Amino acid sequence: MTTDTDKVTGGCLCGEIRYESDVPPYLVGYCHCKMCQKGVGNLFGTAVFFKHAHFRYTKGTPTWFTSQGAKRGFCSQCGSPVAFQRLDAEDHCSIWLGTLDHPEAYKPTVHWHTESKIPWVDIDSKLHDATPRGNSTRYDTAVED
Ligand SMILES: [Zn+2]
Ligand SMILES: [Zn+2]
Repeated sequence: MTTDTDKVTGGCLCGEIRYESDVPPYLVGYCHCKMCQKGVGNLFGTAVFFKHAHFRYTKGTPTWFTSQGAKRGFCSQCGSPVAFQRLDAEDHCSIWLGTLDHPEAYKPTVHWHTESKIPWVDIDSKLHDATPRGNSTRYDTAVED
């Protein structure tokens, strides 16, 4: 059973896009791949993962740009990067942490693609690199304790 306190909300800079999830994200991590660096215009992308079953847009929807293996959703009004969707994993979506109303509540626990990390970026090396390898392209199965 979920309560209102589990609800996660957020949106883009201008407010044209708003979203909510009934439950907290199941995974939060830093992606250091070159596409995320470009796509969010920053040192890395910090992604928050939700199941589609729990997630919905409550105002507006992103405009999507398709890149290799994924599509990236942004606000057509203010240009904020909002969402990231792997084309091979339609049951979940990720949202860029900075668009959450309370990003401070969800601390990343993994890194991806540290091989392309910008060299002078200091990362928390205690977090493991959960980049999918070999046959695994599923980010949601990449975390094992
Ligand atoms: Zn906007
Ligand atoms: Zn990436």
